[in-house]
Amino acid sequence: MRIGILGDIHSNLEALTAVVGMLESEGVDAWVQVGDIVGYGADPVPCIERVRELGCTVCLGNHDAAVVDFMPADYFNQYARAAIDWTRAALRPEDLDYLRGLPLKIETRDYSVVHGSLHLPAQFGYVFSTVEAAECLSEQRTRVAFVGHSHVPGAYMQREGGSLRDLDVVFESEFTTSIAGYSRVLLNVGSVGQPRDEDARAAGAIYDMERGTVQVLRTEYDIPTAQQKIRDAGLPSVLADRLALGV
Ligand code: ZN
Repeated sequence: MRIGILGDIHSNLEALTAVVGMLESEGVDAWVQVGDIVGYGADPVPCIERVRELGCTVCLGNHDAAVVDFMPADYFNQYARAAIDWTRAALRPEDLDYLRGLPLKIETRDYSVVHGSLHLPAQFGYVFSTVEAAECLSEQRTRVAFVGHSHVPGAYMQREGGSLRDLDVVFESEFTTSIAGYSRVLLNVGSVGQPRDEDARAAGAIYDMERGTVQVLRTEYDIPTAQQKIRDAGLPSVLADRLALGV
């Protein structure tokens, strides 16, 4: 079983199309999406449709939550807030219903999914450090968990018999790492639609359960078209500019 994982799509259809194509060519049997399908970009409806067509297991992101008024807009900076208001008006009733129905956290036999952290999922905390990773791992009941939110890929791994204070960390823009010898693995899958690790390429991830590997892959995509759509929609131009920089 190979699971393809999509993080933080943010209404970027060009990036989503490229990442799905990349992961399909790698061969995946099931799909997971870690939240924030919408926000920032200009294609919220086609991105929701694509995620639904793929049959993704999906949890709720903070931008998804703000669009359906599950959390206050003053949590966000002015650019994110403008995009949330624009997105709310662009979505159809069925899209809003779909976002409203997403769970904050998912736990299957094989993995957990949450947008920010398994520690207080409704607060959408970030996992940026080993301290935050340890908080998240302490709530993790499955061997592997997938998160997004920071838009920066990486993995935090607790050795079998090892302590949460002494995690092994992978911090690369793309990597493949074996999970053999680790009792718990927290994978940040990076962002499809708005990477922030100074690598503008779109990210996607694979968990190969037979081989026991987690992987983050990158692909080029049509950034100029995604940028033009953002400008044409009247969204803040900074949201277009940043795509070329990967910030
Ligand atoms: Zn996000």
